[in-house]
Formats: sequence, C-alpha cells, structure tokens
Amino acid sequence: MTLMKSWVDSANDANHPFPLNNLPYGVFSTEDGDPRCGVAIGDMIFDVTAAESEDLIALTDYPLFDVPFWNELMEEGPAVWAALRERLIALLSEGSADRATVEPLLVPMVEAQMHLPFAVSEYTDFYAGKNHAVNVGTMFRGPENALPPNWLHIPIGYNGRASSVVVSGTDVRRPWGQLKSPEHDMPAFLPSRRFDIELEMGAIVGTSSDGPISVQEADNNIFGYVLLNDWSARDIQAWEYQPLGPFQAKATATTISPWIVTKAALNPFRCDTPTREVALLDHLKDCGPMLYDIDLEVTMQPEGSTESTITRTNYKEMYYSAAQQLAHHSTSGCPMNTGDLLGSGTISGTTKESRGSLLELSWGGKEPLTLPTGETRSFIEDNDTLTLKGAAKGDGYTIGFGTCVGKVLPALDDPYKR
Ligand code: MN
Repeated sequence: MTLMKSWVDSANDANHPFPLNNLPYGVFSTEDGDPRCGVAIGDMIFDVTAAESEDLIALTDYPLFDVPFWNELMEEGPAVWAALRERLIALLSEGSADRATVEPLLVPMVEAQMHLPFAVSEYTDFYAGKNHAVNVGTMFRGPENALPPNWLHIPIGYNGRASSVVVSGTDVRRPWGQLKSPEHDMPAFLPSRRFDIELEMGAIVGTSSDGPISVQEADNNIFGYVLLNDWSARDIQAWEYQPLGPFQAKATATTISPWIVTKAALNPFRCDTPTREVALLDHLKDCGPMLYDIDLEVTMQPEGSTESTITRTNYKEMYYSAAQQLAHHSTSGCPMNTGDLLGSGTISGTTKESRGSLLELSWGGKEPLTLPTGETRSFIEDNDTLTLKGAAKGDGYTIGFGTCVGKVLPALDDPYKR
C-alpha cells in the first residue's frame, strides 16, 4: 500500500495524519452550525451530513448522518462501511469528476470544534498489556507475584462508566476521593495527590452481538479505533480496588481522540500478538494478526512551559488484541452493542522510556521524572496538559489518530463543606 492521491493537496504529504488512505470519522461544528458528521481529509473536514442531504452520498433508503454521531452507520454493518469508504475515495481522489460539487462542502479543520464521534453505549477497560501488568504488580505485590494467576489466561477487565467518556480538549478536574496514606491509620477525604494517565487504545464495537462470539467474529464486529486516556487516581485506587477492582479512581474522566480510525485504514498495519507463554484456551486462541503497528507517544506540558515527550511505545506491545477482549467479554452471554467502547489497558514497552503511565515512569513516585526543562514530576500537577499521539507509518504515508488532549484543573473546594 502506498499513498493514495487526493485533489485536496494537504492530504498528499507523507507525514500528514489524514491522507486519502485514512478517512477517519468525526463529529464537528463550526460557529454557524449544529454538530454534524465529517471525515478528515488533509487539513479539511468533508461535511458528510451535508453530502448526504445533497444526495452525494446515498448508501441506504433512509438517512444515516442526520444525527451528530456515527452509530447509525456502525449499525449497518461491514458491507455498508465498505460502501461508504469506496464512495468517499471516489469523491476525494485525484481526478474525481465530483470535485466541483464536493469542494463547497469542505470546512477548514482549524475552524471546527470537535465533539464525541459516537454515542458511547457502555465502556469497559482492560488490563491486557503485559509489561504494564508486570510493572504495577511488581510495585504492589513484589516481583514473584507480579502477574495474578489468571493473567496469562484471560484479558482482565472491569466495567467502566460510559458517562465519564469525554472528547479530546475537555478539561479534567482533579478529583476528591477517599484515600489512605500508609503513614495514617484512618482514611481521609482529600483531593487525589497521585493523579495519572493511562496510555491506551480504544476499540469501538460496530456490530452488536447477543451471546458468545469467536475471536474472528469479534474482529469482524469492531468498527475502528481511537486513542484513549484512562485518567486514574492512584491513591484512591490503592484504597478501593480490593476485592472488586477500580471504581471511583477511574470514574472522573476518560478522554478519547476525536477521529475514529477505521479498521479498513489500519488493515495494512496488522500484526500478531506476542508469543504465548502458556497456550490460550481454544475460544481465545489467536486466529490471524489482530494487533496493529501503531506508534504511540505521550507529552506533558506544564502551564506556561514547553511540551516534552515523556514516553514512546507501540500498540503491538499488547498481549491480547481488542478482538480477544471482545470475544472474552461475550463469553458469559453478555450482549455487546453498537457504540460499546473497549479500552486496551495501559500500553507499556519493555524499557523505562516506553512506560504508559506516570505510576510506572516514576516507579510509584520513588523516581520522579525530570523533564527537559528541569521540572520534575511523579504524578500530574495542577494545570499540566497531557497529550496522547498515535500514528501508523506506511510506505510514503501516515495513518494518524490526531491527538487526545486533556488539561488537569485544580480540585475544587471540599465538595461537602458548607
Ligand atoms: Mn486503564
């Protein structure tokens, strides 16, 4: 696969995140209009809602883009997903006969405000990156018991809150919560002092299922991927997590990037999961390359300071694919719905520089990070801006995800004080 040329010049740069090969789906608004569906092409957004109302896009007898989210297309299934992509490529390719009709429907991306690209039905987060699990387990339980006995057999997860999912650019307020410091006998209600990021990918369920599905069926049902930051209050988490797992520590916010990158755009970057240390049971066995080679990066920018990269890793570091997570999620008969969001789990590489959370980067706060500006960090300070970035690099082109940004605002006054 090489760069597919578009008549939108900015889309033809080898390093641009949104070439014709990508065509990610988002929801945007401009000053004079309601939120609507759009597809990124170079520095522009093609207004798909307007294109459908002008019959430039007509995939079904009824409208799919008259609502400000992509769920209605997702519900149509893979044949309609492919038909839309084919139509968009025809409209936006170099030499397209439709250029004169399409051009007035392009909006400069800089003039657009982005919204959540899909209505999040439910949100589940996993713990399926092995390097992360070993690091955290080593810190909490020691190196002998780092991985729980189930870890190599199932992708461990918990049910999160769809209501907490926000789009990139939304400020995140430092939470209050009940926590217990080792030096105190009793817990206290305080603003979190160990507020953290988790660098993850989010997989979006396109086709619903009702009953157990295979790994291959799960892969077929996934619509696309976003970057995901699972904001985590480590001090609240440490106190609350046993025996039912994280709860309020993960409920403040989960930020996703605004563009859904489709499976079709990512297909050239498929790769295998790592070698299995113990064989998986048949229903979770790998049946083809279902991870993706996507470079990932996190930057931190303290207020009034410069942006520094604090980690670099890759999605292929995961032990379980999103398809295996979705298949496992369905084993009980749990219905999975269009718009369900599955967080991969924190993606850490094997080296110190490739760890996907501050908890790991600062080793529980024992080894604070020194930024290139000389500032140090164990966890997030007030008014720090954290940004996740992701891109798959092809032969002369890039499949970018855009950014997943959040600024952490200071905690409010004690919410229970009168
Ligand atoms: Mn997480």
